[in-house]
Amino acid sequence: MLPVRKTKRAFYSADAGDGVFTPGKKRRRCLSSPASVSKAGPDLLDTIPDDLVVSILRRLASTSRCPADFINVLMTCKRLKSLATSPLVLSRLSRKAIAVKAQNWSEDAHRFLKRCVDAGSLEACYTLGMIRFYCLQNRGNGASLMAKAAISSYAPALYSLAVIQFNGSGGSKNDKDLRAGVALCARAAFLGHVDALRELGHCLQDGYGVPQNVSEGRRFLVQANARELAAVLSSGNEACSWLTLSQPQAPNQIRGCPLLSDFGCNVPAPEIHPANRFLADWFAVRGGDAPGDGLRLCSHGGCGRPETRKHEFRRCSVCGVVNYCSRACQALDWKLRHKIDCAPVEQDAAGGDGEGNVQVEGNGNGDNVLVPMS
Ligand SMILES: [Zn+2]
Ligand SMILES: [Zn+2]
Repeated sequence: MLPVRKTKRAFYSADAGDGVFTPGKKRRRCLSSPASVSKAGPDLLDTIPDDLVVSILRRLASTSRCPADFINVLMTCKRLKSLATSPLVLSRLSRKAIAVKAQNWSEDAHRFLKRCVDAGSLEACYTLGMIRFYCLQNRGNGASLMAKAAISSYAPALYSLAVIQFNGSGGSKNDKDLRAGVALCARAAFLGHVDALRELGHCLQDGYGVPQNVSEGRRFLVQANARELAAVLSSGNEACSWLTLSQPQAPNQIRGCPLLSDFGCNVPAPEIHPANRFLADWFAVRGGDAPGDGLRLCSHGGCGRPETRKHEFRRCSVCGVVNYCSRACQALDWKLRHKIDCAPVEQDAAGGDGEGNVQVEGNGNGDNVLVPMS
């Protein structure tokens, strides 16, 4: 008697009644050749033309809530794997579908992202750009991938390139280009990117890389908050519980939108982009939150960006303990937790860092300047 060979079961099947894919049901193996026609009749999946299957897969790709949603389809059968990995489908993959976890990073994951990039996915372009620039130390290639996404008006890429210009990341302190940073930020802000709006608001208020214009800066900060609130209200069921009294927050505990607490209410914190989550996890896995060689991570937990050279990021002007890649991160972290922790230290302990930017710029009022809605 021949041993029974166990085969992988698929999770998407063609319903005999209407030809619609039904998740959860087991199905027969799908083979395209005539020889595969069993006694029970042909596999109904084979009767659906390729363009219709691709259309369904494109919809699935754009609505996947995690990589597994999509990968399960690849494992179903050769035909679906072939169609699902076509550029038409890969270019539509959602942000969450390509959210590779840092713990699961592998050559296969790298290849998959590269394939998505080649298919024209801006999400993959930006995510792989961030990973190569900050994690794999491939600065040139990472920046060019981000630039590719930025040229297509992908706002997170424009903002990340702005942060790179502000800090001179990947180069020396002489490579800082504040005006280029402001220009990139303005473009991302025009597209509605909240961090870019906030960054631009602070740049205008402080005269950083742009002529000072306090009232215009405040207008951008108000706009950032308004967009943040709108995003929460349109986020569905979670929006029901957003209106709560502002409570003091414990350190290192993200409980609600920090800036809107100025209005006496907390809303769910903005969702962190998977690329930022990847960065934070990548460095947490390797050496306990530090990128090594005396380099520091941005102190805002939702950022994950590391320094690319020593003393690249600016520090809090009062305590000198925390450091940030950008004013937007500083403002968020201030309201989120740092206003509880921040305490003045001895002058010599908070002194120069060798790069002439010992403090986060302010207006002489200490950390108060970091409260955008005051
Ligand atoms: Zn940051
Ligand atoms: Zn401080």
